[in-house]
Amino acid sequence: MSSPSITRRDFVEAASGLAAGAVLGVTARPSFSAPAIVIRPQGRNAAVASANGLRAVQRAAELLEQGVDTLDAAIEGVKIQELDPEDTSVGYGGLPNEEGVVQLDASCMHGPSKRAGAVAALEGIKTPSVVAKYVLLYTDHILLVGEGAKRFALSFGFKEENLLTDKAREIWLRWRANRSADDDWLELPEGENPIPRPTGTINCNVVNAKGEVSSVTSTSGLAWKIPGRVGDSPIIGAGQYTDNEIGAAGSTGRGEANIKVCGAFLTVEFMRRGMKPTDAALETLKRVVATTEPRLLDEQGRPLFNLNFYAINKRGEFGAASLYPSRYAAFDGKEARHYDTAYLFEPRQRRR
Ligand code: ASP
Repeated sequence: MSSPSITRRDFVEAASGLAAGAVLGVTARPSFSAPAIVIRPQGRNAAVASANGLRAVQRAAELLEQGVDTLDAAIEGVKIQELDPEDTSVGYGGLPNEEGVVQLDASCMHGPSKRAGAVAALEGIKTPSVVAKYVLLYTDHILLVGEGAKRFALSFGFKEENLLTDKAREIWLRWRANRSADDDWLELPEGENPIPRPTGTINCNVVNAKGEVSSVTSTSGLAWKIPGRVGDSPIIGAGQYTDNEIGAAGSTGRGEANIKVCGAFLTVEFMRRGMKPTDAALETLKRVVATTEPRLLDEQGRPLFNLNFYAINKRGEFGAASLYPSRYAAFDGKEARHYDTAYLFEPRQRRR
């Protein structure tokens, strides 16, 4: 299914042929793709994910071994977190918006077919990554949001359920009580601490032995967000991005900082220019720092938030980087385990 790699020279010839054709009014179908360092598959399955994706990469690897498609394998892995009520950053059990409503975002890309799908601000459906795959498979669109996304899911037989678990409600109630000393909610009793604003998302990027690539990201988004706020996760090129000629990348952490640099796309572009996955992710983070507003930087110019990028190339080489030290999960062809990320800054005392 994947289109053949081309050399830089082929690209230049194809591109100049197109220009000539345009002048002559010739309508022959152009045949060229983006210029690329040619990355040939290494012939092994591999997967990289955010730290909460250890079971995801393990499951994806098992499925790849059975010959399951890369997107299906990645989504089956991500679904484990979406359905786990203990993971308060994703799917069922995810933390709600400021009004106590769980709104989910997800996106995916399938390298071999060059297709993408996404949903945002989706309520009542436990597995937004699967709904994103249905957008990819069954529509001519890429992103469905809110009520329309829910109706779309229901039409395929997804069940509407209450996604707010008791655990997530408890955390939200504590946040609401402590939100302001100036509102009508009584503060938490003496000795009961508010919980720092939690973050989290799952991103999983998969490559099979043939060099076929897919990526998926799913999240309940920033806890206590303004209703309707959509983060980076469902944005193609920010939350995740796949180019079957090169590899895939995705992100977790402060979505607003990622959207501004199209971070997943940029990371894949850095790999296209020949960088290894970890270096590509670090380079993207430097761009993030350069585009961060002063109000979000400390006195030494370091961001007051964290952001991670995970990347894998067509050969199954993978890596991850973050602004501050963090962890990630990967399957290297043999085993699934956690790794430390590369990072730009030593830990800060307090982050937002
Ligand atoms: N990236 C997610 C968002 O901004 C949140 C997170 O990963 O913590 O919605």
